[in-house]
Amino acid sequence: MTTPRDVIKHPKIKNPVETLANTRHEFGEHGGVNMSIEASTTFTAMHPNVLTEMFHGERGPDQGGCYLYGRHFNPTVYNLSRQLAALEGTEAAYCTASGMAAIAGTLFQLCNSGDHIVSANTVYGGTYALLNDFLPAKAGITTTLVDITDLAAVEAAITPRTRVIYAESIANPTLRVADIPALADIAHRHGLKLVIDNTFSPLILSPKQLGADIVVHSMTKFIGGASDHIAGAICADKAFILELMDLHQGSLMLLGPTMDPQVAFNINLRIAHLPLRMAEHGRRAQAFAERLQELGLAVTYPGLPEHPDHEMITALHCADYGFGGILTLDLGTEELADQLMDMLQNDYRFGYMAVSLGYFDTLMSCSGSTTSSEMTDEDKQAAGISPGLVRMSVGFTGTTEQRWRQLRGALERLGFVNAAPRSGPVGTERIAS
Ligand SMILES: *Cc1c(COP(=O)(O)O)cnc(C)c1O
Repeated sequence: MTTPRDVIKHPKIKNPVETLANTRHEFGEHGGVNMSIEASTTFTAMHPNVLTEMFHGERGPDQGGCYLYGRHFNPTVYNLSRQLAALEGTEAAYCTASGMAAIAGTLFQLCNSGDHIVSANTVYGGTYALLNDFLPAKAGITTTLVDITDLAAVEAAITPRTRVIYAESIANPTLRVADIPALADIAHRHGLKLVIDNTFSPLILSPKQLGADIVVHSMTKFIGGASDHIAGAICADKAFILELMDLHQGSLMLLGPTMDPQVAFNINLRIAHLPLRMAEHGRRAQAFAERLQELGLAVTYPGLPEHPDHEMITALHCADYGFGGILTLDLGTEELADQLMDMLQNDYRFGYMAVSLGYFDTLMSCSGSTTSSEMTDEDKQAAGISPGLVRMSVGFTGTTEQRWRQLRGALERLGFVNAAPRSGPVGTERIAS
């Protein structure tokens, strides 16, 4: 580990698995170790009064265990939501059909027409388009995009109509780390909510512990872990979660991005091994980042002491999970980036050319032309997204040494590595195609 000795840990860091382990375990209908799937879209009431009380918000999942209709609360989705709340240390949570639904639902709930958002300029492409294109056109909600690491710029962008400061805990794809305690301080001094997208760093960073008000997730990524479900979550206090489900003004209730209970059941089975997966993603990414750096390549990873936010993330993160599974490698040009990915996939089977992240195998994409292509060239440049930037979500299949031989072999063939290998033969992992 590269943790410098003089880093002062943030006083609030607590490993979220302890909270998770203390969360009530939901058994199946017949005593099964796993919870049952509640597949019904509507629920019977024992007495007509109960339905009326549900509509008046006097009964609900936590008030008499009452359920109304599947787009409102569902018991299976609610159980997964309780696990997410434990994971993020929030009072409550609710799951959505996608990460974008969680983000859009949260922002629609917090902002009215004419309101304003201050957001990091390096965010997921879909979030960028939502803030920059969709919300102003459809709802009159505007956003000022700022360098979120420039706290003076963040504060200067706040207007009397600002309601939200928005950032990703670890930004896509620049891997800059948000100073969550400092952003929370700015937000709260101005009466704003701090919303953090923690998709890149579940367990590693706990935004709520660090002062954020609302934590959103794309569970499509690390939490799902198998690239087989699109899913999201909003973690917040109970009042906000109930507000999202309000029959008159609730964004989740009225826009309807409901999570299917079957999906909730499947994702709930992966929560128990999320800590093991996050630790191994991080261990592999750290090893590759250190070795790529040793070869003199332009690698970016928060676990490297040279990363501009290394000291901060070392103070803020839960050390049991390292620094995350994502690294970027700048090959200079899109052509070289494409050649490397082509070779790594088709000659070495090191990983796959695909967008998304958090899969058990390595996924690679060229951010500028794919997941950040919604951004204007100017915004990409300002955010430091170069055309040859390859984002890798480092998987944990195979062995670290085997995967390193593959990666090094491809880099060598492209002329990026000249020196003799330090150990073992190079290029022997090339597969016949
Ligand atoms: C993928 C992603 C999203 C969107 O999530 P979906 O589940 O695809 O809707 C949002 N934020 C980040 C950081 C992401 O990586």
